[in-house]
Amino acid sequence: MAREVCGHCRRPRRVCLCEFLPATPVLLRTPVLLLQHPHEARRRLQTAALLELCLDSHSLAVVRGRSLGCLIRSGAWAERVVGEARTPLLLFPRVGAIQPSELAPAGSAGAEYCLVVIDGTWKEVNEMLRKSSAELEGLACIDVAAACGLASRRGLYAARKPPQDGFFSTLEAVAYAVGVLESAEAAAAIVPTLLRPMVRMAQQQLELTVQHGFQVHRTLKSGYRPNMVDDVNRAAAALCIEKHVFCPPSAREILLSSSDMAHTT
Ligand SMILES: [Zn+2]
Repeated sequence: MAREVCGHCRRPRRVCLCEFLPATPVLLRTPVLLLQHPHEARRRLQTAALLELCLDSHSLAVVRGRSLGCLIRSGAWAERVVGEARTPLLLFPRVGAIQPSELAPAGSAGAEYCLVVIDGTWKEVNEMLRKSSAELEGLACIDVAAACGLASRRGLYAARKPPQDGFFSTLEAVAYAVGVLESAEAAAAIVPTLLRPMVRMAQQQLELTVQHGFQVHRTLKSGYRPNMVDDVNRAAAALCIEKHVFCPPSAREILLSSSDMAHTT
């Protein structure tokens, strides 16, 4: 029998995230242009779909393609970057990325920005950047992880192993960028709103990881760290997510469970 799927968030009913989504879609001062790898749209475990559910339609445009050229030739780019005279900022912590503190605050001296985000697996993102060398020449990159003091932190999203600490899932990266690009007052309201469904999804992943031992072994191999449990619950507490039922196992329990699996598989 087919699993029942929520008509709004498109997730199976038992992991529906609707109660953790904003009641009214969030309007950003700095809109997001998201270049999504064509394969990413078909994946169940991805965070851009959550971002679409959180943001107002003026605040997010998704363009599918394999290089920045696809985005730059799109109507969304013509409207947001050219039409609204915004400076595009690529959200990626590559060498030479500028710190948000080096930017004129949005609104001062006519400075307005739009955030360019590349979405896919880490391998796909690297391929997309390789195919975009000409477009990257004139595009400023910003590094928000360092600005937020997160350069040595791993993201909440355990399903994919990032290349190094300070690299985050699409939704987390956008939330942290909003935190440094919007006014302090707006960021205080918006950042927790965007992270709320992400934290709940991370809790759900951990619950499943613990319930199905085979996933523990696989997740540990992919880079999962036991202190992720504490990170997720700390983030949930900070965002006042009360209706979660996750009872975190200790790091020792997870490691023992993984060790058992290593001997039996
Ligand atoms: Zn739902």
